[in-house]
Amino acid sequence: MKYFNDSEFYNIKEMNGILLAQLDAFREVLSVPLIITSSNSPSQTHTPNSMHPKGFAVDCVVVPNKEVNTHYIWLLALCYFNAVGYYSDEYWHFDMRPLSPGQPKLFWYGLNQPENIEYFYSGSHGLNILIQGIKT
Ligand SMILES: [Zn+2]
Repeated sequence: MKYFNDSEFYNIKEMNGILLAQLDAFREVLSVPLIITSSNSPSQTHTPNSMHPKGFAVDCVVVPNKEVNTHYIWLLALCYFNAVGYYSDEYWHFDMRPLSPGQPKLFWYGLNQPENIEYFYSGSHGLNILIQGIKT
């Protein structure tokens, strides 16, 4: 990888190759460092059916930069990943879960407590909610 070291992942050998390629490509276009905070460690708590232990997901923080705002990160991330989550503490979740033909990408944002996270699928309803949410 161009922008990440193997040591930034719990077990690089078990990470999905497509996710790693997309992460590097996303990082190149974003032009801002990303700090990986969680990858495929089985010991970290995630939601049931999490993509993390399967090696399909990373959580990260985008190093603050005045040239890059949250709207831009959302749009760019949805171009590169099959699922994108954003938490109020500014952690991002990016994953390359396999999608069936016709299945939409998944995106969500919410408070850090899992019970407060709302899930929105792509489509006009979800996108409207997302746009309202990221305005504030
Ligand atoms: Zn995650």
